[in-house]
Amino acid sequence: MQNVSTVQYHTLDGTAIELHRDIETGNIGHVVFDFDGTISLIRDGWQNVMVPMMVDFLQTETDTTETRAELEEVVVEFVDKLTGKQTIYQMIQLGEEIAKRGGTSQEPLAYKDEYNRRLLPVVEERIAGLVAGTLSAEPLRVPMSLEFLRSLREMGITCYLASGTDVAFVRNEAALLGVAAYFDGGIFGALREYQKFSKAMVLQNILTDFGLSGSELLIVGDGYVEIENAKAVGAIAVGVASVEDNVYNMNADKRERLIRAGADIIIPDFRDGARLLEYLFFH
Ligand SMILES: [Mg+2]
Repeated sequence: MQNVSTVQYHTLDGTAIELHRDIETGNIGHVVFDFDGTISLIRDGWQNVMVPMMVDFLQTETDTTETRAELEEVVVEFVDKLTGKQTIYQMIQLGEEIAKRGGTSQEPLAYKDEYNRRLLPVVEERIAGLVAGTLSAEPLRVPMSLEFLRSLREMGITCYLASGTDVAFVRNEAALLGVAAYFDGGIFGALREYQKFSKAMVLQNILTDFGLSGSELLIVGDGYVEIENAKAVGAIAVGVASVEDNVYNMNADKRERLIRAGADIIIPDFRDGARLLEYLFFH
C-alpha cells in the first residue's frame, strides 16, 4: 500500500487547503455534498452506538468464543470501511459475520431499525434542542459550511445533497441546520428499497441529465465512498477530513484514506472556503 504521508502535495498559500492533484478548474457548475461529517454534526458519535450494538448481536446470536474486544475489532474494521454507503450495507455485513459464526441472522433491515432506535436518544436531544431553539445550529454544522453553501448559491452553482442516512432524516436535519434551501438540485438519501439509491447513481444522473463532463461536477465529502464515486466518473473530489467524536479512534487516518481514495483536494472544514472557491472557479 502506498504510504501517503510521503506523497507530494502543496498547500494553498496561508490556508489549510491541500492540493494533491492538478485538476482542470474553472468549469464547475454542479456540486454534490455528503451530509453527515461534511455539513452536519447532528449524528456525530453514531459509531459509539453502532459498534456496541453489533458486538451485542454477535454475542447473542452466535456461539462465538471471541471476546468482546476481539469482536469489537472486527466490527470497527467493517463499519469504518463501509461508511459513506447506506447504513443497510453495514447491517448486511453484520448478518454475514453472524452467519460466518454459525448464527442465524435477522433481516438487515431489522438490525438497521434497531440501530436507528438506539441512536435516537443521541440525535433526538440535539434535534429537540434545535426545534426548541435552546441549541444553536452553528456548532452542529461543520465549521463555515453554511457560508460555503451561501457563496455557491450567489455564484449560481447548483448544489445537491446525497447521504447514506435515510432520506426523511436528512431532509429534516438539513432544514433544522438551516441548509436545506441551498440544495436546489435536490436532497437524496437512503431508501428502504436500498437498491434504488446510491451516491454513484446520483452522480451519474446529474452527468447524464445535464450532459456534463467530469470537470463540471464537484463532489465534497468526508467518506471515501463518495470520493471513489467521484473519481470513477472523472469528477473533481474535495475530501473533508473533519473531526468526528467516537471512542474507537476510527477516522484517525481519515485524511490519509481520503487521499488514497483519490481526493484531489483535502480540507479540514470550510474555514478557508472563500479561497477554495477562488481556486476552483477562478484559478
Ligand atoms: Mg459523511
